[in-house]
Amino acid sequence: MNLNEVSISEVRNIGPKREKVLNTVGIYSVADLLQYYPRRHLDRQTIQKIGDIKPDMGEVTLIATCFESMKIPGRNRQTRLKASFSDDTGILNCNWFRGGEWIANKLIPGEEYIISGVPKFFGGWAIDHPVLEMIDNEKGATTLNQGRIIPLYPLTGELSKNSFDSRAFRKIIKNALDQFSEFIEDTTPQKILKEHKLPDLKTAINLIHFPEDDISKNIALKRLKFDELFHLQLIMAKRRANVKLIPKKNKIKSSGKLLKAVYEKLPFELTDAQKKVIREIYDDLKSDKLMNRMLQGDVGSGKTVVALLSMLMMIDNGYQAAIMAPTEILAEQHYLGFHKFCEELGLHITLLQGKMKKKQKEEVISDIASGTSDIIIGTHALIQKDVKFHKLGLVVIDEQHRFGVMQRGELVEKAKEAPNLLVMTATPIPRTLSLSLYGDLDISIIDTLPKGRKPIKTAKRNENDLSKVYKFIDEEVSKGHQAYIVYPLIEKSKKLDIQAAEEGFKYLSEEEFPNRKVAMLHGKMKNDEKDGVMQAFKDKKIDILVSTTVVEVGVDVQNATVMLIMHCERFGLSQLHQLRGRVGRGSAQSYCILHVGNKVPDETMERVRIMVSTTDGFKISEKDFKLRGPGEFLGEKQSGMPELKLASLLYDGKLMALARKSAFKLIDEDNILKNYPELRDYMNKKFQDKIQFLDYS
Ligand code: ADP
Ligand code: MG
Repeated sequence: MNLNEVSISEVRNIGPKREKVLNTVGIYSVADLLQYYPRRHLDRQTIQKIGDIKPDMGEVTLIATCFESMKIPGRNRQTRLKASFSDDTGILNCNWFRGGEWIANKLIPGEEYIISGVPKFFGGWAIDHPVLEMIDNEKGATTLNQGRIIPLYPLTGELSKNSFDSRAFRKIIKNALDQFSEFIEDTTPQKILKEHKLPDLKTAINLIHFPEDDISKNIALKRLKFDELFHLQLIMAKRRANVKLIPKKNKIKSSGKLLKAVYEKLPFELTDAQKKVIREIYDDLKSDKLMNRMLQGDVGSGKTVVALLSMLMMIDNGYQAAIMAPTEILAEQHYLGFHKFCEELGLHITLLQGKMKKKQKEEVISDIASGTSDIIIGTHALIQKDVKFHKLGLVVIDEQHRFGVMQRGELVEKAKEAPNLLVMTATPIPRTLSLSLYGDLDISIIDTLPKGRKPIKTAKRNENDLSKVYKFIDEEVSKGHQAYIVYPLIEKSKKLDIQAAEEGFKYLSEEEFPNRKVAMLHGKMKNDEKDGVMQAFKDKKIDILVSTTVVEVGVDVQNATVMLIMHCERFGLSQLHQLRGRVGRGSAQSYCILHVGNKVPDETMERVRIMVSTTDGFKISEKDFKLRGPGEFLGEKQSGMPELKLASLLYDGKLMALARKSAFKLIDEDNILKNYPELRDYMNKKFQDKIQFLDYS
């Protein structure tokens, strides 16, 4: 019996009406119901007593018996519902100023309730609008409601409206377990369970709902989390295996003359980390398997030159190489930089821009298609329909985190023969996260900055310090350096009392720096204008660039030594780190000044403290991840990852590593899961939009 195919109407106590209500939270099959896990468990032993309530203790959870409830008429025809509860240590009143009608029906004197809320003292302890749940002590009720540990289920408005509470869930889930437990199918291979000392699935599902104690609850939790992570890693392992199965047509024979020529003329010595990564890429390119690699390196660590040298290896072997950047400014910067490095090599470097005139664009597109272009640089424009490549051997994606996971595939698919892939990211991401998002890629890391870089000095400054800050910037400019001043918004917002960039620009250029060349850059400017300003800044024709976050990603001007971020409280940690990365790119001492507005909340100050205390991108990303949680951290663009119900990317890193090892080993041995048909069928069905394990034999 496949419980995914058994309707919940088969479960005792679920009639057509309840079935409909359960459908609203996505429960259709018995399997869905059994996987409707408790949001938390209440342990009777750790429940607080009314007699122990103290002022300012915040939210409490109590179990108490209702002994009376009454409606009290108030002014404006408003009625308040007041109910009194007691445990063996005291009395607690609860008040409802709204929705009392509905609660009143739920309150039965003599019944026990779980009550959560923040108590206040009004002659006695009282809680307004508590969260209330009944514990079922009626005769014949099974131990499920009386056990030491009581499961509480996620509830929605729709459920509550239909009197579906945790008590109701306890009952029907218990029924479902009684009726169908024996049909719970365990798809995770026995040997893996044994290796990690995990219980079978039937036991785990039973225990997650009705654990005997904390230990059994945690064992169940571990097993169920393991499955989620194991499935996620099976997808990664299979994707990786699939790439390695693709016949490779673009194997290179040697690293070639071009690489050597550029390498010898580089104006700097590559760092050991850069050399190591180039070696890894070279090994990939000349191996029998396609490259599928991610290059992680903090801002300013020198990823671009690694990308260029990799591209040259491909070109020397008769292929084209393309690099996709997230913004036009960045694409252009790569174009100019590559030209400089590759002077006199006779290479044909092509920049495809969204803003190009039709005729010019057609020419460029025809160069790409005919194979005239060796290196192709562009933004999303590269994945437009009309762009076709002649012999694309390598795809580089710069600032990968700026693109969706899907777009990484799109450029790859444009090649006639599967190309090698190098994705680069400057946003260091916590390891658990990179293993889930990019777990199918091999990873190279540049973990050192080029020699001679001095760590950026970071400081926090208030409104009152600004005149000193401006004076400092002026001194830096006198020494021949340049500065960025970044504002969070383009136009003055009505709601936020923040000096906008435009206003700031006017003020700075007229009042603070009348003798300096100050320019303005923001996202709403026309592309030509933006380019003009960026180029002028690079050519040192501008001393101070007042800007919005358009300079956040990738912009590289070595002579800039000051980054002043206005109202840094308006930025996230990763963003601040990226902005700071615009300076400290040359050998001079650089500074990042974080201006904070007045009345800034504590959590903002926490971000500032982190920024001041470290320049290590990995540390910052870990903190950012912890402060904001995975959802916010990833943003919508990274969706496409299977949902995790129980496992947390934040806290289950160790379990993820175990699950990954097991999954990769399994796929190594049996990449179509021939010997695990139940697991294969489960994966094919559950993740049909992500992966298929097919047996062609
Ligand atoms: P990112 O990794 O942030 O993309 P870039 O590739 O833009 O960094 O490199 C930052 C700056 O450092 C560039 O101006 C680049 O030319 C320079 N650079 C790269 N590698 C080295 C090196 N080994 N030594 C000195 N400077 C380097
Ligand atoms: Mg870069």
